[in-house]
Amino acid sequence: MNDDIYDLAIIGAGPGGYHAAIRAAQYGAKIALIEKEALGGTCLNWGCIPTKALYASTKLIQQIREHGDEFGISCDLSLDFGKAVDRKNKIVQELVEGIISLQKSWKNDVFYGFGKIIGGNIDNGFDLSIESENDVKTIKAKRVIIATGSSPKLIPNFNIDHQRILTSSDILHPNFKIVPRKLVIIGAGVIGCEFANIFATFGSKVTVLEYLPLPIATEEPMIIREIMNKFENMGIELLISQNVLSIEKTEHGVKVTTCPANIPKEEIENAEKKVFEGDYCLISVGREKEISNIGLEQLGIKLNRGSIYVTLETLETNIKGIYAIGDVTGGLMLAHVARYEGDVAVANALYSIGGFKIKPMKTDYSVVPATIFTSPNIGSVGLRRADAKDKNISITMGRFTYAALGKAKCMGEEEGFIMFLANKEDGKIIGASCIGAEAPELIAEIALGMKFGLSAHDIASVIHSHPTISEMVLEGAEDVFGMAIHRRGRPRLP
Ligand code: NAD
Repeated sequence: MNDDIYDLAIIGAGPGGYHAAIRAAQYGAKIALIEKEALGGTCLNWGCIPTKALYASTKLIQQIREHGDEFGISCDLSLDFGKAVDRKNKIVQELVEGIISLQKSWKNDVFYGFGKIIGGNIDNGFDLSIESENDVKTIKAKRVIIATGSSPKLIPNFNIDHQRILTSSDILHPNFKIVPRKLVIIGAGVIGCEFANIFATFGSKVTVLEYLPLPIATEEPMIIREIMNKFENMGIELLISQNVLSIEKTEHGVKVTTCPANIPKEEIENAEKKVFEGDYCLISVGREKEISNIGLEQLGIKLNRGSIYVTLETLETNIKGIYAIGDVTGGLMLAHVARYEGDVAVANALYSIGGFKIKPMKTDYSVVPATIFTSPNIGSVGLRRADAKDKNISITMGRFTYAALGKAKCMGEEEGFIMFLANKEDGKIIGASCIGAEAPELIAEIALGMKFGLSAHDIASVIHSHPTISEMVLEGAEDVFGMAIHRRGRPRLP
């Protein structure tokens, strides 16, 4: 193979692809990074970052509304969603520019256009085409990582017109500056709940329709109950077990028709229907893998239930030398998982080329933290109580409330709690869930502890700075063995 060939071509510059490009460059590899829209992908442009920028506005509003008076701040709040969107756009733009400059600093070649693997093999290298508006380029690479991500699921009878019936990408468009009077959200998963919180705070009357009997159904039931209560207090109408039959545009907005989710198909026609009207409708019912037209068929790359099939440990597809990471595989659709998988795929790809100071890596998904930015926000890691039961693990639990913590009281952040699950036999932490101030940050410490097999005693033996929210972790871990200082009740001695 000649020297012009890239070591690695990466299709897709979301959190999986752009991190992988930098990581590989750090080992001295020659990189082509191909992106059809903007560096940073969904996470940075139409996902995690823009929603968190808007979330920060809502947090500030809620803090002043709920606690302003007692904090000694009295003002008439006047909200300008347009300005919050401008701030969000600026943050996104600055971060995208940051990634462009990082790629430059590592001398990675960034190609803007639609990337496709058009042929080749591990011995002779792979050929890729990059199609942009007025140009088609071809390049050659020794190895390829597919990191094309996902896009909002478009359900045909939902009539998504991107004007009134919107996806999460539409509602995060830089020019979407409207606060709907009435917003109907379909799907109470992570995206649906995060937008319900944002728009309800800015003044929309929000209705959320969920097919399952619970919102954010993968979380601990106690956490779900807490967020359902909060939604109720915020005036968010959440209807569960709703089968959405149709979404239609009306003269001034949208009309959503549902029936109970448990009605068999043949009885739907005669079932009792509910109609919800709004001026906008947001569809947040999951995401589809971006796998069309990227050369999978030509190369014979196998799929598994609509995702790219990979050997889980190495992230290599069935075609030697081609790897896949992130949403496009069948794993958890989380930016941080994509980034981690980038490390694994890069290590395995460069090791297989030879000549790089890198060792092969195997994936380890035993500890994956997750976060949901509602108010209060949620963090979780490891097993839930129901998982532990399914796995026949005897557990012991620790629980600690924010209301009992000095720092949380000072901050006016008394809502919520942390809960630990530990193995009864050895006290090792096997899971934790938290709802309340900085919950996602607290979970990071617990994830570290779990990764290295720490017990509740180990975590409690670490000096935690006072007064901090991190003491939630300390007291929660202490409560696993009945020794939380600021919790009343009978101690359960170790
Ligand atoms: P999701 O899978 O989290 O939730 C979709 C929800 O829609 C589910 O509760 C599902 O039961 C419901 N649903 C599906 N079809 C429906 C229908 N016809 N009518 C009513 N309800 C229906 O998907 P999402 O919220 O769209 O998020 C997509 C992905 O992005 C997820 O994997 C999520 O983890 C990820 N994400 C993560 C974050 C974060 O980490 N903070 C934020 C946003 C999105």
